[in-house]
Amino acid sequence: MNTAVFARWVGEIDRTVRAEKERLTRLDAAIGDADHGANLERGFRAVTQALADDEPATPGALLRLVGSTLIRKVGGASGPLYGTAFLEAGKALGETPQVSVTELTRALEAGLAGIQRLGAAVEGDKTMVDALAPAIRALAGAAREGAGRREALDAAASAAVAGAEATIPMLARKGRASYLGPRSVGHEDPGAASAALMLTALCTAAAASDEPREG
Ligand code: ADP
Ligand code: MG
Repeated sequence: MNTAVFARWVGEIDRTVRAEKERLTRLDAAIGDADHGANLERGFRAVTQALADDEPATPGALLRLVGSTLIRKVGGASGPLYGTAFLEAGKALGETPQVSVTELTRALEAGLAGIQRLGAAVEGDKTMVDALAPAIRALAGAAREGAGRREALDAAASAAVAGAEATIPMLARKGRASYLGPRSVGHEDPGAASAALMLTALCTAAAASDEPREG
């Protein structure tokens, strides 16, 4: 995957965050403060502007710009967390111009490690980690079994969506939703839902790309 695929990914996140803003707001209204949709919309609008101004030369540089922009522009827990994830993923990619599924998996693992270093959430705490961790495991597993890029990304997106849905019965142990205690049960975590959107957007971006398949 080259820089254009990553630019398409970010454009697709921007589009789906706007399309799903009401749903993200509704989820955050139930167990938070109803700003998750607005936070991400503001963040990815700024990201789109930053990418138009800058045109990064490599996938890594692009992800680092996404990360630093989210950290600068998004208040709330999700800005620094997603910002750190993109920044760490971008650092892991270095300056390579073409990213294989294996390199992407390592980069996303570095991103998730950044989120966990900052937010100290583990799986089961009802956060974005509950969508991201199974998605990255699915991606790694598919790549190991020799799946093509599209198949591997499909598996990751499906696992992220399933992971987000699996947060519904969980009790929140991190972030604002944890203040609700048992009343957080019965609602999907907004950050897990947005993480699933991001993985789905990656799938869509890769599918739209006419590059030949890579391992
Ligand atoms: P805020 O909670 O500050 O209003 P957002 O509404 O934008 O920020 O984001 C809320 C989401 O952030 C939650 O649904 C959860 O997925 C995620 N989150 C909050 N705290 C943590 C944490 N410590 N680790 C991982 N994710 C977290
Ligand atoms: Mg919120």
